[in-house]
Amino acid sequence: MAKTVLILGGAYAGLHVAHALLKKQDPDVKVVLVSKISHMYWNMASVRAVVPGQLGGEDLVRPLSTALSRYPSTSYEIVIGSADSSDFDAKTVTVTVTANGTTRTIAYDQLVLATGSRCPTDNVPWKANGSYDSILDSINRAKESVKNAKQIVIAGSGYTGIELAGELGYEYQKDGSKTITLLSADADDKSMFGGDMVAPALANELRKLKVNIRHSVRVVDARKQEGPEEKWAITLEGGEQVTADAYFPTMGLVPNTEYINAKHLSESKTVVVDEYLRVSGAPEGTVWAAGDIVSKPRAGFMITQKQATTVAKNVELALKGKPPVVHKGMPMDVIACATGRGRGAGRIGSSIKMPSLMVWAAKGRTLGLNYLKGYVDGSVA
Ligand SMILES: Cc1cc2nc3c(=O)[nH]c(=O)nc-3n(C[C@H](O)[C@H](O)[C@H](O)COP(=O)(O)OP(=O)(O)OC[C@H]3O[C@@H](n4cnc5c(N)ncnc54)[C@H](O)[C@@H]3O)c2cc1C
Repeated sequence: MAKTVLILGGAYAGLHVAHALLKKQDPDVKVVLVSKISHMYWNMASVRAVVPGQLGGEDLVRPLSTALSRYPSTSYEIVIGSADSSDFDAKTVTVTVTANGTTRTIAYDQLVLATGSRCPTDNVPWKANGSYDSILDSINRAKESVKNAKQIVIAGSGYTGIELAGELGYEYQKDGSKTITLLSADADDKSMFGGDMVAPALANELRKLKVNIRHSVRVVDARKQEGPEEKWAITLEGGEQVTADAYFPTMGLVPNTEYINAKHLSESKTVVVDEYLRVSGAPEGTVWAAGDIVSKPRAGFMITQKQATTVAKNVELALKGKPPVVHKGMPMDVIACATGRGRGAGRIGSSIKMPSLMVWAAKGRTLGLNYLKGYVDGSVA
């Protein structure tokens, strides 16, 4: 009987591993891909999709079924559902199947954890944490809010908050029809964006786009008011009240690891892996993890791609009874943060600044959407 490789999560990490394994066309391997959402979601372009007249939600999604349709139908199965519990000793994962709410226990030979992370706030489109309909809904609602708003408040000065402020600033700076305010809990420009060396340049780019940055302000509560028009009452630490017509929280990410025994998790609830990307504490050579679920050295797309490549390789080796290879990370850490459709700021390694035009070419021009087709035709792996 074919051996089962169970992959949990159908996005950058999970779909990548699925392609890498299925391309080998090994008749003794069956891939089972479990995903909460039926589509690959290009969340990295969500900040542009909420700008009216720009990308539509449909541009950011592709069906997982299309992505795997090039492989023999007997070599894989897609299960749309949520992994709810796991038993690494028994080698099983229990999944709630979305279509009918039934639970299904799936036995595996090899398990790949790629369920990433989610936003702590519901109804924001920065990450997929529900169905295909719910993610498109959340994009459309955000777009409508932006369209109707005069005062837009964004909370959080990490990747998402800065890129969102950049997209909105770029769109509305000229006609001045909307005020855009970025609330940052960090003390100053330098300490935004996790204190990365590019932070002051990003703050500078945002100010050119007439984004107001307020430092040392932390949102403790945000409530949508009753009434025909969208209005928000936002309470800051210390009691100050801020109002907005549209409010977008972007703070933090929560690892999707609730279905995993706590003994495999770090204090911040990410999965702990060794140098082979094997999950610590699991029976040796059976459970692997890649992407935001690991978030080491940090959560990032290129880091995820590299890890997915290693995990696919190590799963393949494990199936053949061979020892795993050590994961080699990125030769250099690269950060490219777009500030709208024209500029951005970034760095290569720890000292080389990327010119704004280079960030635009590498990132801001498409927000990586050009890579989505690689996840559909399999060329990513
Ligand atoms: C707005 C934004 C912009 C970004 N821009 C950049 C950038 O420019 N450069 C960069 O390097 N990184 C960027 N990132 C980070 C990048 O998006 C992540 O590193 C990447 O998404 C990680 O992919 P992943 O597959 O590990 O996880 P995710 O993208 O989180 O995907 C996890 C998948 O698993 C599914 N899932 C979750 N729980 C379960 C479950 N229990 N059962 C089954 N399925 C489940 C989810 O629905 C999802 O489909 C950005 C992030 C955001 C939010």
